[in-house]
Amino acid sequence: MLDVDPVALVRGRHGQRDAGTLEQYVNDRPYVLTSFLSVAMREAFGTAMSGRSKSRQELAGQAIPLIAKLAVVSCRPGERLIRELFEPLGYRVTCVRHPLDENFPEWGEGPYYSVELEGTVRLRDLLNHIYVLVPVLDAEKHYWVGKEEVEKLLRKGEGWLAAHPNKEAIVKRYLPRQRQLAREALARLAEEDNPDPDAAAEQNSEQEVKMEEPIRLWQQRMGSVTAVLRSVEAKRVLDLGCGEGKLLRELLAEKGLTEIVGMDVSFRSLEIASQRLKLERMAPAQREKLKLLHGSLMYRDKRLAGYEAATVVEVIEHLDAPRLAVFERVVFEAARPKTVVVTTPNREYNVKFATLPAGQFRHKDHRFEWTREQFQQWSGRVAERFGYTVRFLPVGEEDAQVGPPTQMGVFSL
Ligand code: SAH
Repeated sequence: MLDVDPVALVRGRHGQRDAGTLEQYVNDRPYVLTSFLSVAMREAFGTAMSGRSKSRQELAGQAIPLIAKLAVVSCRPGERLIRELFEPLGYRVTCVRHPLDENFPEWGEGPYYSVELEGTVRLRDLLNHIYVLVPVLDAEKHYWVGKEEVEKLLRKGEGWLAAHPNKEAIVKRYLPRQRQLAREALARLAEEDNPDPDAAAEQNSEQEVKMEEPIRLWQQRMGSVTAVLRSVEAKRVLDLGCGEGKLLRELLAEKGLTEIVGMDVSFRSLEIASQRLKLERMAPAQREKLKLLHGSLMYRDKRLAGYEAATVVEVIEHLDAPRLAVFERVVFEAARPKTVVVTTPNREYNVKFATLPAGQFRHKDHRFEWTREQFQQWSGRVAERFGYTVRFLPVGEEDAQVGPPTQMGVFSL
């Protein structure tokens, strides 16, 4: 049961208050399936949508007879579109159209349908189809459609969207009023074998972890970062590029923290973080402390303002050089926490990893790995430009010649 308050939706939005129409108060939003359904599905059925099952993986991977009833969808183009979306995916589709008002038959039919889908499919496929296609029928989104929407669409459409005969209509209606984004999504769908960037990142991270394992580097990194947060007595902190939530787990155990926000551009990583931290089963007091945000460090984001400290652990080396400048402004100028802790590999130390061929980076996705001098120069420039001071601390055991495996800069306002 999804209860939507249409007035709360427009409250606080600039420019709409004075529109002088009743439309923002009287509309169909509370009564039809919209992108809110997709958000709710992700919350309630996240695991099912990923196709994973701890105890019955075989069943999760099997096509089984399923029926989905979509109580009311709004679809202005009409029944034809509903059929064109679902029939190619193997569903038997039943549509019942509703009159605009039963008491006034002369007003004719409305754009509303009750839809039943019947097919033998894997549960995850049914859920992902509905997740993507309900907003496509509706062609409205309750939130601003940004670049992340393209990623979301491609991920949820994985394995079926590229081959869908109406993929163009799907993409355009999924990204309403965003022609450039729609073009981008279609171009990426057109690439035949579209590798999943998150899956690749996961695999690469595993390699990195394995290589660094003998010196238990990531534990040391987490320890060093939390020690800094303790020393500045931060209460409300951001973990930018939180990935699968290793640091978040440590932070949750910190008594002094009252609010912890993890942010990452990879939705998949956030899903994994939420599973690993057992967000759904967390005690209410803990749960209230923690927030996961889907967002990119390439955009100024109001949600990031007002925090005392931010950690950016092993993230900058994943950013292309031209984007680093954007990152600097987003973090040090817009979000502007009092303390920023940045860690990154120390390239000089790489000679000590027996399994790493000379000249290679620790992770395939790394765009650079800096020597101590390079990192300190960059940090110095950033600090000066944005009015911070910076000091440097080693992470992991320091080698006399090549320094520590990880380097850390602590920026203070
Ligand atoms: N801090 C975590 C993850 C490091 S891996 C840890 O130490 O375990 C780098 C992370 O940065 C990835 O999760 C990646 O998705 C994220 N990332 C890369 N570019 C980003 C961007 N533009 N905005 C936000 N996060 C980004």
